[in-house]
Amino acid sequence: MPLKRFRPLSGKCRLCKGELELKLAGNAESPSVCPKCGQGIEPIQNLSAPPARINRKPSPTQAKAAGFQVYKRLGKGEYEKQ
Ligand SMILES: [Zn+2]
Repeated sequence: MPLKRFRPLSGKCRLCKGELELKLAGNAESPSVCPKCGQGIEPIQNLSAPPARINRKPSPTQAKAAGFQVYKRLGKGEYEKQ
């Protein structure tokens, strides 16, 4: 079930702290009000970091398979190509 992030339209809320995550079942419609405070909410568009990538770090093998260069961190600012 995907987690979707929302924020209250006012931008601030003491109950949900200005941001909330809601689990949405399959094709469920996005809720339009905060279940905690009842304010209108809107989904947060986060195109640069889709939720699926936040929780799961790809393994070097997967990264290679996806065509990324994989670097091993040797120390501060040093990387070795694997
Ligand atoms: Zn709220």
